[in-house]
Amino acid sequence: MNSGFAMVFILLAACGSAGPSDCFINGLEIHMETGASCEDAADNLEFAQRLLAKAGIVRPGTFETVYAGLRVEVLDLSTLGDSAIGRYTWGEVEGIKLTRSGRALFHELIHAKERRAHEIPPGVDSHAHWEAAGYVALDEFYRGGAKTLHE
Ligand SMILES: [Zn+2]
Repeated sequence: MNSGFAMVFILLAACGSAGPSDCFINGLEIHMETGASCEDAADNLEFAQRLLAKAGIVRPGTFETVYAGLRVEVLDLSTLGDSAIGRYTWGEVEGIKLTRSGRALFHELIHAKERRAHEIPPGVDSHAHWEAAGYVALDEFYRGGAKTLHE
């Protein structure tokens, strides 16, 4: 890294809270209204990917294929806690909306994978198998370790 680039990076980091950001990370588009940095979003995504691989939900090396074109939005809605909204139709995942902490990312990535792989038919409780599969514990572990995606 040359010193000019380093200086620009430091200035950008100092001004990091300005406005929404659009990040393209491992095939995902992550739009954040909250002004969080793409570096923090990337750290969270890599953390989620490690857990997805460890649990056998998404095989290593297939992440970009499984989630191709998925749009993730982190909304600045502090009143909704850590909940999330997924937009699903049969076999399709149009997008994921997360409230401002972004902590529901791992949770919604599980749903998105299962919907795209037709593992959960319409009308079936998409959480029914989570306890036995260990997903509840993994989700809690992720929420405890993920960076908060707002200033
Ligand atoms: Zn859920």
